[in-house]
Amino acid sequence: MKIAVLPGDGIGPEIVAQAVKVLAALRSDGMKIELEHAHIGGAGYDAAGDPLPDATLKLAQQSDAVLLGAVGGYQYDTLARPLRPEQGLLRIRKGLGLFANLRPALVYPELANASSLKPELVAGLDIMILRELTGDIYFGQPRGIRTLDNGERQGFDTMLYSESEIRRVAHVGFQIAMKRNKKVCSVDKANVLDTSMLWREIVTAVAQEYPAVELSHMYVDNAAMQLVRAPKQFDVIVTGNIFGDILSDEASMLTGSIGMLPSASLDANNKGLYEPCHGSAPDIAGKNIANPLATILSLAMMMRYTFAREDMAQRIESAVRKTLQNGLRTADIFEAGTQKVGTDAMGDAVVAAL
Ligand code: NAD
Repeated sequence: MKIAVLPGDGIGPEIVAQAVKVLAALRSDGMKIELEHAHIGGAGYDAAGDPLPDATLKLAQQSDAVLLGAVGGYQYDTLARPLRPEQGLLRIRKGLGLFANLRPALVYPELANASSLKPELVAGLDIMILRELTGDIYFGQPRGIRTLDNGERQGFDTMLYSESEIRRVAHVGFQIAMKRNKKVCSVDKANVLDTSMLWREIVTAVAQEYPAVELSHMYVDNAAMQLVRAPKQFDVIVTGNIFGDILSDEASMLTGSIGMLPSASLDANNKGLYEPCHGSAPDIAGKNIANPLATILSLAMMMRYTFAREDMAQRIESAVRKTLQNGLRTADIFEAGTQKVGTDAMGDAVVAAL
């Protein structure tokens, strides 16, 4: 297993260091794991004047999987757009052809009180949001700000999806559902958008190849409502880039803490980039208080989706669960009656539970 490790900025290095401890523990158990570190984001800009240095992209391309911390920091906010840390993230996704973004929203029984919803609505919640990542209005051309004849400025973007882009992400959705509760809900805005009409048509056609999976369709506004009304009705939600961006953040809050949420971004061959859903949290960077569990759980996803090692995925997830059962909490998930620990101690506890 050749894994590129890209800690990035802010809390990135602290949380990635905990995941590396877990990998080291697995390696000492006999797994053949090779790690190589490189810079991305602001760290890439500082080291090489580029948020995605050539050497980093090359390493990522040559690796089986990429483990990423987070990018971004106040000190980079005034850079020209191509030099900003987030560009490193967009470019590595594009460079690796990562079109399927998987974000599970899972509520651990121990953390059901951390949700902003009533515990009975979220206890036992386990849904997977699959967001298409390389198309849609974020990449469609033309886009820009133009000046009209009357002197007024007008901003415009283009929502675009081709059949093949819809088809490949739909396949990923049905394949994931086959390994779960065999339900796919495709989210679109087909009552208003032509792009969504095509999306719905193609997803419906792909569903014919998966007769065991139940397909439903939902408009995005209703989906946003249903996610807070009765989230447990969902198994796999598959949707486009912009709707998925918003819905996956909404779903993440069902679970209480963004510090618990892993993600995977896959290409057509299950090569993947694995990272926590949260950002670089500059407000708490360097204080040894960030929650490393989202990053450690991203490793579990790596074992499951890139290396097809369900056993290892479950071993890591069980270690996290056991650590929570033992009452250990970082500040973001702390509640009375539990023991507050720092980033490092949380990583050590997970390794011990492994
Ligand atoms: P953020 O996710 O970094 O932080 C939001 C809040 O959640 C903060 O209060 C932070 O302290 C807290 N938080 C986040 N992760 C945590 C963890 N592991 N443990 C405990 N608390 C945690 O989002 P933001 O503040 O909007 O953005 C900060 C920077 O991160 C910006 O530069 C932004 O561009 C960047 N960002 C990067 C990514 C990424 O790398 N994938 C994603 C989102 C934002």
